Amino acid sequence: MSSTVTLEKTTTIQSNDADVGSPTMRSPLLKKTKGGCGDDTTGRCCGQKYELISYDVLPEFLKHNEFILDYYRSEWPIKQALLSAFSIHNETINVWTHLIGFFVFLALTVCAATMVPMEYEASHLAASTGLANNTGNPMVPRSYSADGAVMAMQVLRNVSVETELAAAASLSAGHRVARWPFYAYLCGAMFCLLMSSACHLLACHSEHASYVLLRLDYAGITGLIVTSFYPLVYYTFLCDPFYQTLYLGFITVFGAAAVVVSLLPVFEAPELRWARAGLFACMGMSGLVPIVHKMLLFGARPEAVLTTGYEMAMGTFYLAGVVVYATRVPERWMPGRFDLAGHSHQLFHVLVIAGAYAHYLAGLVYLSWRDTEGC
Ligand SMILES: [Zn+2]
Repeated sequence: MSSTVTLEKTTTIQSNDADVGSPTMRSPLLKKTKGGCGDDTTGRCCGQKYELISYDVLPEFLKHNEFILDYYRSEWPIKQALLSAFSIHNETINVWTHLIGFFVFLALTVCAATMVPMEYEASHLAASTGLANNTGNPMVPRSYSADGAVMAMQVLRNVSVETELAAAASLSAGHRVARWPFYAYLCGAMFCLLMSSACHLLACHSEHASYVLLRLDYAGITGLIVTSFYPLVYYTFLCDPFYQTLYLGFITVFGAAAVVVSLLPVFEAPELRWARAGLFACMGMSGLVPIVHKMLLFGARPEAVLTTGYEMAMGTFYLAGVVVYATRVPERWMPGRFDLAGHSHQLFHVLVIAGAYAHYLAGLVYLSWRDTEGC
């Protein structure tokens, strides 16, 4: 494809690059990092074939935010898009915030899975040593902390770990509450974070890739919201199958409907940003019903108060995230100033991780509560 564009920041650039398929403008950043060996007639620099371009020359399917003016990748081959995870453009921080978040939740999942047999052991040690748990949270036994301190203590005390674990497994097996809602939530969080990261990294490849990846991104957000309900509802209403089934069924159907709606092409229209934010916000806000129900039933219990505190923290983070996402603050105040760092979507990503982590902490308290009391 051959095209000519004249832009404010650059001289006229002639692009003859068949692979790129769109006009290119060398960004000032790229120019600087490539050390000034330019060939303005081809739009290439030191063998760098794919360059960052400005908002004005983006194809329509990549125009999502007119307040981010520069450093876009456009219609790059998959390989270059993948490698761009290690270069600087306006999606770099979006990719890495959720990729790091994914690995954090993967580590939390592995820790939770490997700690299961230690529940009896931890409570046994806590009782025998009289030490406070190392989470700083009086409701959470040490077995649920993620830092391996219980194992370290065992080594220091020369306790036979194998013997203790065998005892733990046999003694606590009959009292342990089901783990699947907690793991469903962790999987939901990991799926959401991974899909989001992939979407930010690869959606620039083509219109079709963008369409598919955005759907997966929306499905990831829906999955995170739906699975967030699972520990809350399952453990709160452990002794009340009617409400347990009712709430789990409701949010699962709601989530499935949201995924179907998000398949409609019109769903990703930039002007429907508020509708998207509203749909996900409504889904999240419906969580208030089982939370209020929980407080009516168990309001006097410290576990209920503590989990509700974490859930309120989660809700606050998510709500702040939705507002930032929809209003596109701060870049709308200073277009172009936050292209690389500090724009609304990056803040939204950080708030999502903070909210998901608050809910993880709530999940630990639910496990502790129901392991201790059962139904
Ligand atoms: Zn995102």
